[in-house]
Amino acid sequence: MTKKLAVALSLFFALSVLSGVAQSPKKPKAETAKKAAAADTKGPELPYTPSLDLTSMDKSVDPCVDFYSYSCSGWKKKNPIPADQVGWSVYGKLYEDNLNFLRGILEEAAKAKAGRDAVTTLIGDYYGTCVDEKVIEKRGAAALKPDLDAVAGLKSVHDLAPVLARLQLRLPDTALLFGASSQQDPDDSDSEIAGFDQGGLGLPDRDYYVKDDDKSKEIRARYVLHVQKVLELIGETAEAAAKDAATIMSMETALAKASLTRVERRDPYKLKNKMKLEALEKLAPHFDWQSWLRVGEVPKFEILNVTAPAFFTEVDRQLTEEPLDHWKTYLRYHVANADAQYLSAAFVQESFDFYRKYLRGAKEQQARWKRCVQWVDRDLGEALGKAYVRQAFSPELKASTLDMVKRIQAAMELRISELDWMSPETKQQAILKLHAMRNKIGYPDRWRDYSSLKLTAGDFLGNVYRASAFENRRQIDKIGKPVDRSEWGMTPPTVNAYYNGQMNDINFPAGVLQPPLYDAKMDAAPNYGNTGGTVGHELTHGFDDEGSQFDAKGNLKDWWTKDDKEKFQTRTKCVADQYAGYVIVDDIHINSKLTLGEDVADLGGEILAYIAWKDATKGLYLKSADGLTPEQRFFIGFAQWACANERPENQRVQAMTNPHSPPYARINGVVVNMPEFQNAFSCKAGQPMVNPPLKLCRIW
Ligand SMILES: [Zn+2]
Repeated sequence: MTKKLAVALSLFFALSVLSGVAQSPKKPKAETAKKAAAADTKGPELPYTPSLDLTSMDKSVDPCVDFYSYSCSGWKKKNPIPADQVGWSVYGKLYEDNLNFLRGILEEAAKAKAGRDAVTTLIGDYYGTCVDEKVIEKRGAAALKPDLDAVAGLKSVHDLAPVLARLQLRLPDTALLFGASSQQDPDDSDSEIAGFDQGGLGLPDRDYYVKDDDKSKEIRARYVLHVQKVLELIGETAEAAAKDAATIMSMETALAKASLTRVERRDPYKLKNKMKLEALEKLAPHFDWQSWLRVGEVPKFEILNVTAPAFFTEVDRQLTEEPLDHWKTYLRYHVANADAQYLSAAFVQESFDFYRKYLRGAKEQQARWKRCVQWVDRDLGEALGKAYVRQAFSPELKASTLDMVKRIQAAMELRISELDWMSPETKQQAILKLHAMRNKIGYPDRWRDYSSLKLTAGDFLGNVYRASAFENRRQIDKIGKPVDRSEWGMTPPTVNAYYNGQMNDINFPAGVLQPPLYDAKMDAAPNYGNTGGTVGHELTHGFDDEGSQFDAKGNLKDWWTKDDKEKFQTRTKCVADQYAGYVIVDDIHINSKLTLGEDVADLGGEILAYIAWKDATKGLYLKSADGLTPEQRFFIGFAQWACANERPENQRVQAMTNPHSPPYARINGVVVNMPEFQNAFSCKAGQPMVNPPLKLCRIW
């Protein structure tokens, strides 16, 4: 019973979590960051950075040779990666500014003074128990005891289901053994049904368990040491812990082998396996589903969906073949590992050492307050978001960004009608879908009601459990109900955006519509290049290889003619071939089957933004500035969203888990396909930023 199963959520930016204890499904979370020098300042103001920054450029680089370096080398030089970060970027920096700002709100809210309203009390108390490390330290592993006792008390493998149901309900961000929640019915986007998904791993992806190269073997060996360390922290002897760690690794490896790959999960038909409860009971007959449903208080349902049936067959095999002791070991470790970040210093340190330091390359732990602000955002995001929006998102800003979105939609309609490869029948359906697409800008129309959530002073882990149980309960209770199309999948301060294919909506939180991404003080050129491109990116997701399989209502239903689909695939193959040639780190190339949807969206989005910008400024005399033409400023604005420095360790994780290409490829890979760019910078045939006509990719 984990967070909402989002099978069709397309984000703009990489997912990267605080701990890296990554399992699916999971709530999206942008990577966060902060400059060490300013680590302890806080204030109510969000700092200003312009959407086109000349000092971020390096004019000694020829834009026709390497446009990303031309636009971003200055930024890279003046923005080394802070010690507590796994990478550093324009997006990460903006999110860090938001954290700093939210910290001011939370510290004020945490002061126990009379007259605090309910929302202030809630976020203040959560934050207050989180930063009180003295109390957390004193309790040590004791906070875990009730859960560990429940696991130790298991009398048979058959008794596992009710214990698991209780644990799954309250563990945040973790699919303990498997994921379960409500999900939109793929065939009827108005209904919520029950959904079951793979999970149960401690490494960020199933590929870590099966790859045969030396680095993967090294990571597995290091992971086993981590498991051992966690078990020792909860009281096992080194000898017992080493033996148990090997057991856990073997169980997880078998689960990983039965899990779908990330590329397979991009096919919505693979994820659709609707059945009745009796069929799930046949898939895993040795799991006591009835007890699990009863203890989890899951509403009655007729139909459920299993995203990965083979995974549940494997769970069942282990239920019959693994002895009770192995199951106790497996659960003991996973509960302690998932909770480690919220426990005393020794647990926090081990979690950091493996997930952020070893796996992703961070040098230092993030300050406590920073982690606490992010957990409030994750668990109580619409309470905290209200305060953020009041300060950072004016009605004028909402109106101007909405105007931009509408112009991009108009550009898409124009492009569709002009396409020479798409038939009139498919065009008609595409335009129908475009018109049905819903825009969500800034924040939800209706804020979530947290009034039933009660927190306890001095009990941080308990409060994490309570907040997580509140959210998981809210998701489970949707089963059998109509879909709420006004709901958001991201909190307002989030620096990210998404398209949801089953909702057929594009979502731009207030956090992503801030300078330097959207800069109300700047003229249209860099803003359209930057935020306009993001809007176009999300919009085209409705029509990419994944999104195009859902119709205007969000149902999984093919609306393309066969011939058009083939032409579309030929065109997207051009993009896949191009990106497969790019290197991420060392000798690791982009897995362009994984990144295809995002690469196509990046290209399409920028083309739409360019058309919309020309339309928005039609009849106006656009001046050059700082020796740059308006067209050049449009493209530099585009490139500067992606300025970033990355640690090689994190690049390796990204190569396996991130459906987006690395920043330089997200810029150079787009402009090589845009004659508009080549005209703007007078690039010549044969130069690196000019794809030859035969290799020029164009979908939209
Ligand atoms: Zn995307």
